Amino acid sequence: MHVTGLKRSVMNGESSMLWHRRLGHISKDRIKRLVNDGVLSALDFADFEICVNCIKGKQTKVSKKGAHRSSTLLEIIHTDICCPDMDFKTGPKYFISFIDDFSRFMYVYLLHHKNEALDAFKIFKAEVEKQSGKQIKIVRSDRGGEYYGRYTEDGQAFGPFAKFLQEQGIVPQYTNPGSPSENGVAERRNRTLMDMVRSMRSNTTLPIFLWSEALKTAVYILNRVPTKAVSKTPFELLKGWKPSLRHIRVWGCPCKVRIYNPHEKKLDPRTISGYFIGYAERSKGYRFYCPSHSTRIVESRNAKFLENDMINGRNHFQDNVPKRVHFDDLPSTSSSDNMYVIPSFAQVPLRIEEQRVQTPQVIDNPLVDQVVHEELEMVEQPIIHEVPQVNEQVDQHDLQKMLMQH
Ligand SMILES: [Zn+2]
Repeated sequence: MHVTGLKRSVMNGESSMLWHRRLGHISKDRIKRLVNDGVLSALDFADFEICVNCIKGKQTKVSKKGAHRSSTLLEIIHTDICCPDMDFKTGPKYFISFIDDFSRFMYVYLLHHKNEALDAFKIFKAEVEKQSGKQIKIVRSDRGGEYYGRYTEDGQAFGPFAKFLQEQGIVPQYTNPGSPSENGVAERRNRTLMDMVRSMRSNTTLPIFLWSEALKTAVYILNRVPTKAVSKTPFELLKGWKPSLRHIRVWGCPCKVRIYNPHEKKLDPRTISGYFIGYAERSKGYRFYCPSHSTRIVESRNAKFLENDMINGRNHFQDNVPKRVHFDDLPSTSSSDNMYVIPSFAQVPLRIEEQRVQTPQVIDNPLVDQVVHEELEMVEQPIIHEVPQVNEQVDQHDLQKMLMQH
């Protein structure tokens, strides 16, 4: 096995390792498929190596077994509720995923309580059915109370979710107790998502509340890369054309962001320091966490991404990041000592509608793919060949340790 530790040199646009990071730490095989499919241009796989952040992020590997596959969109929807085991005390605690069996396109909604599952499903159903012109026929889930209801002597006492499916003529398929593998698609996908989130977060110092931004980004990526189950990317199966990945950047990397100034009604010529945290959902652009800015989460189409600085462990803005905002400093009655100010712009979502993570759109953000790319090209990071000396030995040591534990 060839283990070299983190490469300290600057990665260029053809580096397979750079794309591994941009794409949320997906496997080499999946990157190769993207190249073979022409979604990514030819990459240099010579620099592909064991990734420390992957080892930190991945928990389990679960094999899967073959199952009946649907032949058309929305025939079968897999769903599962996941509670990310993270140390956060405010904000949504769960997410619910809906995965179309045919395309494997995935939708995720954040939940504060499990009983919001039905609300999320209604929003999901309305949108996918309207956009595809098809109807959901089967929903596959475990027998969790939020899906099934309760057991009684007379059989199933329908909960609101089961009742709604019945009213809509949708057939519920419940996995048998003790056989969680029967609902494998949704559960595996949720595990993959959390592995990606951990890998993406593991080489950043970004505050924990941004886990949901990492989650949204992981969903965004998974919908645009091939799976073992389907021959094309979920995106292509849903929309009919290949996704563009040119605008994808390494999550959490430091950025110089140019923002829109509403007073001057134009782009502010100055840049602010921030971190890339995701892709805008309903507009064309990127999302940034800017700790020193009055609005901490901003969206912009103009930024310089310092991906290599992050990969090399350099962080220009570290001093600007408040380690932890103590609750005394906050205009809040919450007793949490692990809370961060979230700007009015970002707004802690109160309604499910605002928590949508991934929705199918008729048009795939052409501006992010094209115009932004062109705009960004002007401020795109120049490729500088330099080799900063950052704790090479320590990292090597950690890597070896982790490999042994693995
Ligand atoms: Zn990795």
